[in-house]
Amino acid sequence: MLKPHTLTVLMTNTCTARCAHCCMNSGPDRTGMLNLATIKKAVDELHLSSPLLTVVFAGGEPTLTKQTLSGAIRYCADRKINTRLVTNASWAKTENTARKLLERLRRDGLEELNISVDDHHLPYISFENVVNAWKVSKEFDFGAVVIANSHGIRSTITPEFIMKRLGETISLRFDENGTDCTDVRAAKGSTYRAISNSKLQRLERADEALAKEEFSPASNVEDLNMGCPNAVKSAALSPNGHLLSCCGFELEGNAVLDFGDVNLSPMEDLVHQANNDMIVSAIAILGPLFLKNFIQKVAPEIDFPKQYGTVCEVCNSVVKNPRAIQILRDRMNILGPMVISARMVANGTQKAAS
Ligand code: SF4
Ligand code: SF4
Repeated sequence: MLKPHTLTVLMTNTCTARCAHCCMNSGPDRTGMLNLATIKKAVDELHLSSPLLTVVFAGGEPTLTKQTLSGAIRYCADRKINTRLVTNASWAKTENTARKLLERLRRDGLEELNISVDDHHLPYISFENVVNAWKVSKEFDFGAVVIANSHGIRSTITPEFIMKRLGETISLRFDENGTDCTDVRAAKGSTYRAISNSKLQRLERADEALAKEEFSPASNVEDLNMGCPNAVKSAALSPNGHLLSCCGFELEGNAVLDFGDVNLSPMEDLVHQANNDMIVSAIAILGPLFLKNFIQKVAPEIDFPKQYGTVCEVCNSVVKNPRAIQILRDRMNILGPMVISARMVANGTQKAAS
């Protein structure tokens, strides 16, 4: 059974920026904001059925929710759940404003700070803000401070640029093949500092706003042929209180990966519903590329993108295409047994390895 160990709480769709590559389509014009009661309900019910290891607060820009954010961090910290904030540092115009906010959040119990920066943030947020946030964060004993940088072929804000500008050598989270090399966390009592260097993804607003030359597609698409380890296990709560499969892109209202309103049904029922959906299981076990290839055999006329850079890009092209979903639902008699046998193989391999 797929059970969430991580919950990303998408506090709001509103953002101080309107980045061209935003996979959540956030911006100053967007509305939708979670209330504390809904967050508490989601955390309580998930944590009761299977322990949550980390709750990530993201958005939009989560610091816009002020007291709700503080209350939610405190609620998780009281339950010994690790917390992470993903922010664009728009609050760090000066070292003083950065200090004021970080001091409060650390006091609330925030463990990890994740600061996003890349070319598409710059029209809205100065790089100076990142410098202030990074520098001032050293005054507080966070468990981790990570700069999240997604870059493409034409990007100027790269890990090298960031290190030069900060005057420091900082470890990279991913190697040149995209493999996560965060195997050694900081020693207890010290802060893990890194740059999370990921690929610019052609998702949501980025797909419309950016030229295709900005993205680097996989040289061999078969490299993306894998089950998704995050589906359901790294779930998300949308700004309108829906349980989502993940925070890969904007999923509220999606026919496959939005499992429903947490205020209308117990979380346990929503997680069960997710596990009973063969398409969700297929994404987790066989992977989105397997599904795309399956659909194309039935309906070669469906105009899928010719190239992909990440597994989530493939997933987006499948779950946001109503005809593709209908083809999968209509062929559950074929797809279902494939999922079940792949699951048995995976379970057997896991048992043999343990
Ligand atoms: S990428 Fe981040 S900072 Fe930019 S609009 Fe989206 S949520 Fe806001
Ligand atoms: S592949 Fe799909 S389910 Fe998995 S993280 Fe990406 S968007 Fe979410």
